[in-house]
Amino acid sequence: MKHILTVDFEEWFCVSNFEKAIGRESWASLESRIEAQTRALLDLFDRRQTHATFFILGWVGERHPALLKEIALRGHELASHGYAHDLVHRLTPEAFREDLERGLRAVEEATGQRCAGYRAPSFSLRRSDTWAWETLAAAGIRYDSSVFPVIHDRYGEPEAPRAPFTVSVGDRAIREFPLSTVRVGGRHLPVAGGGYLRLYPLGVTRWAIRRLEAEGLSAIVYLHPWEVDPEQPIPPAHWLRVWRHRVGMKTLINKLDSLLTTFSFVPFREIL
Ligand SMILES: [Zn+2]
Repeated sequence: MKHILTVDFEEWFCVSNFEKAIGRESWASLESRIEAQTRALLDLFDRRQTHATFFILGWVGERHPALLKEIALRGHELASHGYAHDLVHRLTPEAFREDLERGLRAVEEATGQRCAGYRAPSFSLRRSDTWAWETLAAAGIRYDSSVFPVIHDRYGEPEAPRAPFTVSVGDRAIREFPLSTVRVGGRHLPVAGGGYLRLYPLGVTRWAIRRLEAEGLSAIVYLHPWEVDPEQPIPPAHWLRVWRHRVGMKTLINKLDSLLTTFSFVPFREIL
């Protein structure tokens, strides 16, 4: 059974969780830490002979074209995480089209490759946002991994399917890979990515991935380069937001190493 390994490539200060504490206008003046963070992940992936899909945030990609090239040269797939990390459902259709195109261009200019995949900032793409799916299809996007069938304060569509499905857009189609959940007590429990991966003991994540395998579903593991860097600055945000951002950071790389040893992971391009 092949599972999917994904990295949302963005700086520690780009996260929606800190959008009130860190204004967009200050991004350019904050310390970039993504080179060392990404290399820690790339080195681990090399050691475990595993390739991932990197969803590149264009704003960050524009500032690190050599790193994008290195990610591609080391065998990984590059896809798009948009440009400026605005939640899709807060944008007008025109602003979304511009954000998407600018994000795709950042990857194309660095690597010469056009992205086939997209992941919305903070999983903010809903099945009902037809205009956004039309924009993705028109831009040549063939797959997406943004729909999260859970209840959460910022994202989530609890009624969405848990298994991959196809969204038809005129004469085109986009294959959707919802983020991983397991059914517990009639509800969907988010598993195998980001804060959930950091928060749950490794045994819980292993159990969840085996549950998915029993259902014939690939786990979609997602993480961010900043999640393996406990030394990063702490912004003046509410303690709960800081906790959410930092919980389990110190042990994530070891958890990930163990998962890569136990299960088999591939980038999206290999299962499409
Ligand atoms: Zn993101």
